[in-house]
Formats: sequence, structure tokens, C-alpha cells
Amino acid sequence: MSAARETQDPDIPSILLVEDDPSTRMLTSQRLRRLGYDVHAASNGAEALQLMRQRFFALLLTDWDMPEMDGLALCQAVRKAPLEGYVYIIVLTARGGKESIVQGLQAGADDYLTKPFEDPELAARLNTGRRILNLEQSLRLANSRNHLLSITDALTATYNRRYLMESLPREIECAARCKQSLSVVLCDVDHFKKVNDTHGHQAGDDVLKGFADMLLACTRREFEWVVRYGGEEFLMVLPQTAVQEAMVFAEKIRLQVAAQSFATCAGPMHISASFGVAGHDILEENGQASVDSLIAYADLCLYRSKESGRNRVIGKSLDIGGRTIVMERSSVDSPRRHS
Ligand SMILES: [Mg+2]
Repeated sequence: MSAARETQDPDIPSILLVEDDPSTRMLTSQRLRRLGYDVHAASNGAEALQLMRQRFFALLLTDWDMPEMDGLALCQAVRKAPLEGYVYIIVLTARGGKESIVQGLQAGADDYLTKPFEDPELAARLNTGRRILNLEQSLRLANSRNHLLSITDALTATYNRRYLMESLPREIECAARCKQSLSVVLCDVDHFKKVNDTHGHQAGDDVLKGFADMLLACTRREFEWVVRYGGEEFLMVLPQTAVQEAMVFAEKIRLQVAAQSFATCAGPMHISASFGVAGHDILEENGQASVDSLIAYADLCLYRSKESGRNRVIGKSLDIGGRTIVMERSSVDSPRRHS
């Protein structure tokens, strides 16, 4: 079950009221509106679940005895449903006995109100629910921030290796299943150590930030992504991209890097970068695709780029069933000197 979280005025809390008796439903709706709630109503559990499939309700006030699906069955169903947030449930009941209350709480209700109830009690119970929901929301927000931090490189705001190890296997699997190409581009800032040694680590960090920003700006964020693979080494993952296309892409970035000056605390700096490209073009013929092989081939190509004089793009398709490995080299003639 999925439903969009409430996007209306956040100052007016929404509540789903479930009550089979029409006059009680109308009266309770009016009371809730007077207390400042945006009220949506259903006449039994099944109808309530139907509404909850259309949109998310964080507050649920439900009668116990109803035809078709009663309040307890609704509590149980809501607790099992994969909803996008916690639903605070208050059960309304004319049954006052402790056993009934325990039964309601065990079914998943957070609280109960014994009929008949007064407005102040209703308001107080709902306020308690909203406090719990606010806490739950802060916790959820903190968790998602923590998760983002745990997969992000602090300096460059690209993803880190943890994200790579989580996500690249999924990308490979997805490409294989859909019989689509997948390429990776490993790139490394040339003579980076010299930048650090000559201008200091702060300038080096500025270069890395500028370089990463450029890589991020070149990728289509919806499905391509960038990882800081090592110190000055970045990996770009390009789904639905054949090696040939990935090489054209890398060459475009190479030229852009060589042409641009990067702002640093030690003044503008010119750099170059070397690229190694690897990919699976015919995944269905190669059951051996793995994170390790893809990165190892990209790394080998990057090594060749460095070895052949840097500031260039070298790429290859992975060895398919023992057949010839395709290796290509881009044209290299950068007028700029490495810094
Ligand atoms: Mg009833």
C-alpha cells in the first residue's frame, strides 16, 4: 500500500474518522472540525483502508463495532500495511472493561476513548497523538539525514565507496535483466600530489571540489551517479550507456577539465585528468559481470592512460566469452601543461 503524504496546509492536521453510525459520524466530524482538524470519514474498516491507499493519514480515530471490518481488524491491517509513516490510532469504544482495552491495544491501537467522551478529553488524547507523531517524524528525518551522510563523501558531496558497494551490484543486475549496456568511467586528477605539495592541502581540496562539481554537472542525476573512489579518483556509473558512448562522454569531460581553470585558495589552477572506461555492451552474453571485474577493467584502462602520458581516455569492453577485447584510445593533445 502506498499513498502520498499529506501535502495540504501542514498547520491543519488531517484525521481519518471511521464510524458506522451516520449520526455519530456526523456529530464526531463536527466536533473534530471545531478542534481544528481536517476531517475525512469512512463508515467501516474496509472503506478506511481504501481511503488510506489513496493518501496518507497519520491520525486515525476509529469506532470498534462496525460491519464488514471492525476497528480491531482495521488496527491490525494498518499495522501490517507498508505505509510511509506511523499512524497513531485511537479506538472509540463503548466497552469499558479492562479486557477490551487490552485487546484493543494488542491489536495495534495506541490509545482508546470510552464513549461517551467530552471534547476536552478528545482534544487532549489527539494532542498526545500529535506529540508522538512529531517525535516519529523528527526521528525519521534524522535517520534519513544520517543515511545520506553515511553514503556521501564529506568533501565533494559525491557518493562514497559504501554507496558504490551497495548500488553497483544492483545496477549490474538491473542492466543484465533488462539486457542493457552499463559503463563506468574511472578518472583521476593528474599530478595531484604536486598540487598538494606546491600549494597546500587546502588548495588540493579546492581542486577536488571543483573537479567533483564538474563531474556532477556532467551527469544526468536521475540515473547516473558519481563516487569518490579514492583520494583524487572518481568513478562515474553510467547505466544504459555503451562503452563507445561512455568514451565520448569521458572525452568531453577530459577536454572540459583541460580547458577550465579551477578556483582555489591559492588562485586559479589548471589541471588535467586521465580516464579509464569499462563497460558491458552485451550483457546477456556475459554472465560474469561483477563489480570487481568492471572496476578492475576501468582501473587497468586508467593505468594505461597514466602510463601513456596522462590527460587521455582509454576504454574497453569486457572480454565476452573469450573473444577479442576491444580497446580504444581517444585523441590526446592538450595544449595546457599539468599543474
Ligand atoms: Mg459502531
